[in-house]
Amino acid sequence: MTTTKTLPSAKHFTLQQLADGVYAAYVKEHMGAFSNGGFVDLGESVLVIDAFLTPQAAQELRDIAEAITGHPVRHMVNTHWHGDHVRGNQVYADVAIIATDTTKNLIAEHLPPRIEAIRAQAPAQLKALQEQFDNATDEAQKAAFAVELAQFHEIDSTFHTLQITVPNVTFENKMTLHGTRRSAELITLGGGHSPSDIFVYLPQDKIIFMGDLLFVNNQLACWNANEREWVQILEQIEAFDAVQFVPGHGPLGTLEDVRANKQYLLDLLQLVEAHIADGGTEAGLADLKVPAAYEAWEFGSIFPGNVQKLYAQLKNS
Ligand SMILES: [Zn+2]
Repeated sequence: MTTTKTLPSAKHFTLQQLADGVYAAYVKEHMGAFSNGGFVDLGESVLVIDAFLTPQAAQELRDIAEAITGHPVRHMVNTHWHGDHVRGNQVYADVAIIATDTTKNLIAEHLPPRIEAIRAQAPAQLKALQEQFDNATDEAQKAAFAVELAQFHEIDSTFHTLQITVPNVTFENKMTLHGTRRSAELITLGGGHSPSDIFVYLPQDKIIFMGDLLFVNNQLACWNANEREWVQILEQIEAFDAVQFVPGHGPLGTLEDVRANKQYLLDLLQLVEAHIADGGTEAGLADLKVPAAYEAWEFGSIFPGNVQKLYAQLKNS
């Protein structure tokens, strides 16, 4: 039987109970978390999924997870290396921070120079944003810039204390945490959205935390992806016995959303392959529009980038 508790309100995310002891955390826009996460009560300890974009958001989730379950967090898993899933890692420096070997290496290699570049650009970015806010005449425009400024400050405030913290436990294919209450299977089938993606399968609950292998009602972020591999991974996940799928971005998904993501990738591949086969140029990519099935999905602004990256990838392969 599932006991439903009254969930605390949080600044950075909204909690949803998926089963007794299983919670998803959905990012609140512009509050510095940026991607979804969650936590699982294993019986005597808690597993957290992903560490958000900021240590503040990660700390809030850890505090809430320990308060709700009454158990300490002993494991946190980074589903992949992207900053919005790992920049809060320092909050978990005293527990097992789990990732694949590949993800650990990518964090160690790419995060420090990225953070330095963001730090270096921050003053100019703030100046530009502040000027846009000051010069905005339209109320709606001013409100939009105010939200962007708040988001900027939320992220900027982390830079004084931010410490890149790399995972301290790695695995190659699969790792199972055997709790007294449930088991959690940490699985990688290789790289799809990123060079190495983990998803967390809870067989007793038929729940999968997908990381960024799943986007719900959002365009898929493909800048670091291998689209064909991603399709194959989703095909394998379809065969798992699961009914609730927590995406990295967007609300709770179902098997239909997994299938829709697979179709998005297939359509993207088909679109760009046809463009190349027709002798289309790089400049001509601008004429490729979001297919009708995905027009209502958020972040349409990343579609041109998805197309351009795939074009370059296919041309060079
Ligand atoms: Zn990602």
